Amino acid sequence: MFVFCKSMIKREIIIAIDGHSSTGKSTFAKAIASKFGLIYVDTGALYRGVTLTAVREGITSFDNPSNKGQLEALLSNTDLIFKPSGKDGASELWLNGENIEREIRTLEVSGMVSIFASMPIVRNYVDSILKEYGKRRGVVMDGRDIGTVVFPDADLKIFMTADPRIRAQRRYQEMISRGEKADYQEVLDNVNERDFMDENREAAPLKRADDALFLDNSNMTHEDQMVWIEMILAQKWGYR
Ligand code: C5P
Repeated sequence: MFVFCKSMIKREIIIAIDGHSSTGKSTFAKAIASKFGLIYVDTGALYRGVTLTAVREGITSFDNPSNKGQLEALLSNTDLIFKPSGKDGASELWLNGENIEREIRTLEVSGMVSIFASMPIVRNYVDSILKEYGKRRGVVMDGRDIGTVVFPDADLKIFMTADPRIRAQRRYQEMISRGEKADYQEVLDNVNERDFMDENREAAPLKRADDALFLDNSNMTHEDQMVWIEMILAQKWGYR
């Protein structure tokens, strides 16, 4: 998902927000984009989109080496693009002409996405889309490797985390409020599994860039976070 702000002042910076799953990175990134006239790109949505595409084609693991070739062929015919949703300047992910924004958020996709995100062919595919967005500059992206791999020269890097139980509770509430069935323990297990896989995979593992600012929002509200970032952007670039 990305956000076009109404007051698109030309801003040149790239902000990279990385961190653990369900830390509210995308909500934070969207709020920054909207406030400061930047384009928001939800990089996790693209990994989720690839996962959904593959699962639909029956690719659910890479135990069989031929699945890699099958996935590569599939990706060469996969068109993932963000389109405005018409609500609050937000946008949604489309796959070959189909709106998949809802389907990429299910627990089934969440349970498989880290497997796909660990595959170099998938990472190269998503990185090429992200680099196109980066050329426009004036972007804020959230993900796992934006400040370390995709944009190591990003102007501002933030690494977000929070207590896993608090993150699971937040994701659980989100699912319930969307009217989905959810089990807290299952959500917590998924959060822990994804942390483990993201931090321990070979390709672009999740880690804090040396020059990233650290933000643990376990006990912070959205407002607290905005005060924090507004101060940084005002001090460094005079953004108001
Ligand atoms: O951010 P979100 O939870 O939607 O991301 C889904 C998954 O995509 C993550 O659990 C992670 O495995 C993967 N991801 C990644 N690199 C990114 C963004 C997401 O590996 N830049």
